[in-house]
Amino acid sequence: EMPKSAKNTRSGEVETTVTLSNPDKLLWPQEKISKRDLLDHYELVWSRMKPFVVERPLALVRAPDGVEGQRFFQKHASPGMSEHILRSKDPEGGEEILYIEGFDGLAALVQIGVVEVHIWGAKVDRIDAPDQIVFDLDPDEGVDADRVRDAALDIRARLDELALPSFVKTSGGKGYHVVTPLKPKAGWDEVKGFAHDFARAMEQAEPDRFTATLSKKARKGRIFIDYLRNGRGSTTVAPYSTRAKKGATVAMPVRWDELEGGVAPNAFPLGGKTTLTRLAEDDPWADFFGKGKVLNRK
Ligand code: ATP
Ligand code: MN
Ligand code: MN
Repeated sequence: EMPKSAKNTRSGEVETTVTLSNPDKLLWPQEKISKRDLLDHYELVWSRMKPFVVERPLALVRAPDGVEGQRFFQKHASPGMSEHILRSKDPEGGEEILYIEGFDGLAALVQIGVVEVHIWGAKVDRIDAPDQIVFDLDPDEGVDADRVRDAALDIRARLDELALPSFVKTSGGKGYHVVTPLKPKAGWDEVKGFAHDFARAMEQAEPDRFTATLSKKARKGRIFIDYLRNGRGSTTVAPYSTRAKKGATVAMPVRWDELEGGVAPNAFPLGGKTTLTRLAEDDPWADFFGKGKVLNRK
């Protein structure tokens, strides 16, 4: 084995004391993306990603042998986990919660083969007051991506009418996530209730396009407005997280005009040209939390 240095100083911007074992290990073998490549990606996006991942309960998709091997969805600590992956207890029910406080935490996740980072829409110290609402657009098989984009724009317009700001990201999979920042105040039931009513209103207005029902049957040719991401304990893939999918795609925050321009849900592969170009531009989710409103249900 090569000797391990005490500190990895990478691009200079972000530093970590975490050392990768086996940095050349391919996590996405087809795309030839290694653990080190994954850490490089997170280093590049860290300043933008940080507010969405630090001090939040996490759920992790781990693929220690790469995305073609066995994968685990993990919400609790396992033996040998780094001290940079912190543990807390859910005040309701006492379940263990995992969270990170900084880049060392994210690097420690890479070290254990985490290929997707999922988050609660609340912070550990305000666990019962969500700071975002997530509308996850899940198209039925065969629904064109432009119809999903139109759905995202419709959600934006409806939120606008309620004077609620909205941001959009690609899922890295088949859809988009429209996210509204909140000043944490309303509880989970209220936020989920709002999202459910919102999805039902869309279904009622245009039942040929939308469904607010989870079942595959209800989805036929339609888009499921997945409001269920807003329940207590539910998670959504974090902005800038990679996906355990073909192409090693990233869940990428984009501007609304980029969405209108036709950006695809899987348009951003880790280290790809589109990804590097997008990241060289302004942060489309800058001041996300600064724009948050208190949810007032009329
Ligand atoms: P897509 O655009 O393809 O729908 P997505 O990230 O929105 O991508 P969904 O299937 O809509 O994927 O959402 C899955 C959600 O379920 C994720 O937000 C994740 O946090 C949560 N989840 C719960 N259990 C699991 C699990 N075992 N594996 C993966 N995700 C899980
Ligand atoms: Mn989805
Ligand atoms: Mn979903």
